Amino acid sequence: MGAGSSSSVAAGTRRKGVRGWMAEAGDALVSVFFPAGCRICNRPLTGASRVPICEECLASFGAMPKEICEVCGRPLAAFAGNEGVTSLCPACVDKTYAFERARSLAVYDGALVQAILLLKFEQIEPLGAWLAGRLAELVGAEGGKLAADVVVPVPLHRQRERERGYNQAALLSKPLAKRLGLPHKAVLLMRTRARPDKRILTLEERWKSVRGAFATRPGSQVDNLRVLLVDDVLATGATLDACARALRAAGAKSVIGLTVARAVRNPLPSSDTW
Ligand SMILES: [Zn+2]
Ligand SMILES: [Zn+2]
Repeated sequence: MGAGSSSSVAAGTRRKGVRGWMAEAGDALVSVFFPAGCRICNRPLTGASRVPICEECLASFGAMPKEICEVCGRPLAAFAGNEGVTSLCPACVDKTYAFERARSLAVYDGALVQAILLLKFEQIEPLGAWLAGRLAELVGAEGGKLAADVVVPVPLHRQRERERGYNQAALLSKPLAKRLGLPHKAVLLMRTRARPDKRILTLEERWKSVRGAFATRPGSQVDNLRVLLVDDVLATGATLDACARALRAAGAKSVIGLTVARAVRNPLPSSDTW
């Protein structure tokens, strides 16, 4: 809505009182039910959903392959000859991660990349809620494997969160906690060291940049809790691993990572065979 139309609504409100107010409310309803178009493909949006992405784009998110590492959830097809022999990827055979298990909703590709950007930079809460619904279904489908006592978002460094005004991981973890009927602890974990400004990090730099970069907030109760740790994207697993180490050091019983997207082509640092 341009400045012209909002000032005319304001003028109408002054002139017409209740009728003007109703017109304004009507405008709000129209913008809820008939937004501009799909934010990914621009197709007109139908229906009453507040998610600004069309059903075709939402349906195009690539499901994870069936054969995944039992621990970290990485697709196993990348390991030739492993199928049927082991359900662990080489990193998990080496016990690389401090989290007990990690799962993701879909492959980080295509329309999902755009959706994650919308969530990250435009704070589209209805999209976070929609994705949280799919994550809740995933938790349900995995039975007891992803059982937890508390839901925690992967934190941003406080300076970054202040600049952005919100933490995109919390746009997922908060509605997810509600759906699962679990407490949401947004401030249990904190990032004590910011990510380097450099945009592209090598694998080694990625691991270095997060090692020891998280801590539990003094006085927070983690003892013996099973923590469900939520983030938007899992790439190397280094961030979830660093968070899990901080939580385990503070006494957490177990940590389970849950992300919307999984960058499946990302190699691991501990293996030189890729
Ligand atoms: Zn679309
Ligand atoms: Zn694994």
